[in-house]
Amino acid sequence: MKFETLLKNIIKYNSDLNDLKMIKSAYSLAESLHKDQTRQSGEPYIIHPLFVASILAEMRADKDTICAGLLHDTIEDSNITKEEIAEQFNEDVSNLVDGVTKISKLNFSSKDEQRLANTRKIITSITDDVRIIIIKLADRLHNMQTLSFKSEFKQKENALETMEIFVPLAYYIGAYQIKSELEDLSLRYLKPDMYKSIEEKQMKVQIDSENSLSEMLQKIQRLLNDKNIPNELKVRTKNIYGIYKRISEGFKLADIHDLLALKIILEDVENCYKVLGIVHQQYHPINDKFKDYICNPKTNMYKSLHTTVFAPDDRLVQTQIRTDEMDQIAAYGLTAHWDINKGQARNLMQKDLTEKYQFFKSLVEINTMFGDNQEFVAQVKKELLTGKVYIYTTRGDIIELPAGATVIDFAYKIHTDIGNTMVGATVNEEHVAIDYILRNKDRVRIITDDLSFGPRVDWLDKAQTSYAKKKIKEFNRR
Ligand code: MN
Repeated sequence: MKFETLLKNIIKYNSDLNDLKMIKSAYSLAESLHKDQTRQSGEPYIIHPLFVASILAEMRADKDTICAGLLHDTIEDSNITKEEIAEQFNEDVSNLVDGVTKISKLNFSSKDEQRLANTRKIITSITDDVRIIIIKLADRLHNMQTLSFKSEFKQKENALETMEIFVPLAYYIGAYQIKSELEDLSLRYLKPDMYKSIEEKQMKVQIDSENSLSEMLQKIQRLLNDKNIPNELKVRTKNIYGIYKRISEGFKLADIHDLLALKIILEDVENCYKVLGIVHQQYHPINDKFKDYICNPKTNMYKSLHTTVFAPDDRLVQTQIRTDEMDQIAAYGLTAHWDINKGQARNLMQKDLTEKYQFFKSLVEINTMFGDNQEFVAQVKKELLTGKVYIYTTRGDIIELPAGATVIDFAYKIHTDIGNTMVGATVNEEHVAIDYILRNKDRVRIITDDLSFGPRVDWLDKAQTSYAKKKIKEFNRR
């Protein structure tokens, strides 16, 4: 990895000479500060920040993020300070570098406490500037890619932390490309035998399905070209971890309905629905595997039409029909703004995060409620980083809640007043108790009465989310 290679990749999307000059000087500074350091592989240390910056360049990151990627380990590993970076570059670069820098050991009495404080710092950095978490994800990705040089204990420890913290964070911001690579790398170290056997199966599937997929691809392409619908088609196989998860749920390889996918990328939404019709006329769809994520986007803003069809050779193929912009968001999530909205990306990313992404409000809430780092990390793991359920409101909106959440949590997530005046609820048109544990895809209607006595103290034990508990406590204090 050379700086020239990085530069070449940046020039593809940003040729501003001042930006390039600044990136060059960030590189020179990083190189001189890491001069005498080597990685465990024996290579000069600068290789690592270079790779991190090039992962960011692949996402078309802005100049400040690239500079911060190059400088991300300098505060930790050399004598340079945050203030000096601000002076030589700007406040943004220095805040980003400071954001990814671990809190010093000197502030803590034990390694465990330091680890918890750093985990908290990573997770909450999203509320200041989402670009911090993106640099951290790129950093983690390169560290996972080069994990073979570490001890077996370190490998497992890092892989576990990656699965527990970084994979869910990548999912929340919709960065599927990094997410699936992190998953595969983690599985490789956590369950090496399993990884190898699935990797072989995946390869065999790719070879066996090649003819049938290319037949399908060519046929669809011909149909679309005949109808003058501009298109781009891509084939993808499910990632190794994704296959592993399905197999451990009891599925056989041939029954994984999205093992193989054909992506159909189009110019506009209207064509997406038109092409859906064309696909269904050629290939039989499985009725309950059709998903309209264009009208009902996922809570991480993923949009696409999905329909699994019987392809040639009776193979199941999931077709993913979407626009170019949706495809960008599918790969890079929130960071797709870098490419789509150029100069305004940074503000739009933070604005979207606060307004559209449901996990954000919960995270802010947990952060204000739990002063103790251990409690904070435990609550985030329980409420945000593990299983989730997706619940429909009566209007068809989708609400994201932690698995185990009850009707009470749902009511408060909709609105505090709804929670405070709730007297009953129906789930899928049936009356239920307010401590009913919600299941994926439940349709919930909350019955309110302005004359209700308000939430009882015993609701505290029946609620799972920090937000509901806080509001119940507040009401009962009044
Ligand atoms: Mn690093």
